[in-house]
Amino acid sequence: MRIAVDVDGVLADHVSAVLSQLRAEHDEFAKVKSEMTHWDEPLPELDTSLKPAIEAAESEPAFIRNMPPVEGAIEWTTELADRGHELIIVTARPEAILPATHEWLEANDIPNRREESLSTRGEMKTIADAEILIDDFPGHIRDFAAAGKEAILFVQPWNKSEVDELTESPRIFAAEDWEQVPTIVESLYEASEREGPRDA
Ligand SMILES: [Mg+2]
Repeated sequence: MRIAVDVDGVLADHVSAVLSQLRAEHDEFAKVKSEMTHWDEPLPELDTSLKPAIEAAESEPAFIRNMPPVEGAIEWTTELADRGHELIIVTARPEAILPATHEWLEANDIPNRREESLSTRGEMKTIADAEILIDDFPGHIRDFAAAGKEAILFVQPWNKSEVDELTESPRIFAAEDWEQVPTIVESLYEASEREGPRDA
C-alpha cells in the first residue's frame, strides 16, 4: 500500500530533542516529554510554549540532522518497505528544512520515495497520493479519515487524551509504538485485497 508517513513525532523524536536542548540552555527548565500533554504545551518558565520552541529549534539544519529517531522507526519502516509497501514522507516542516530532513532520513536508513516526498505546510495532508497516513497530529488523522482513507494515530503524550474518541471511527487506528504499525497495515492491506481496488 502507499503509506504517507509524518516526520516529527512519528519518525523523529523532535520533542525529546527540543526539551533536551532547552534543559541544557536553561538551568531552571526541567520538563520532559511525558509532561507534554498538548501539542502546544505552555512552557511558562521560558515564556513560550512547545510549538514555537520546536519551530525555533527546527530552523537550524544542524539540529534537524542530529535528531534522535523514534524508537523502532528504522526497524519497522524497513520491514514495511521489505513487505512491498511504499513510504512517502509527508511533513508540515517548511520547505527550507526539507534538504536537512532528507539528509537525516538517509543517515538513519529510513526507506522512502524521496521524489514523492511533500511539505504540506499550511495544507491538508490529504493532498498526498497515499491510502494510509501515519501521523501524531489528530487534525491530520481526522482529515484523512474524512477523505475516506485510513489513518494510524501514532500515540504520543500530546495526543493520548484523543485516542478513544478518534478510534471510534472505523477508519482510524492507534499504534502505541512502531512495532504495532505493520500489523495494522497488514490488516488494512488484507481488507483492501478482499474489497478489490477502489478505483477499478
Ligand atoms: Mg507530527
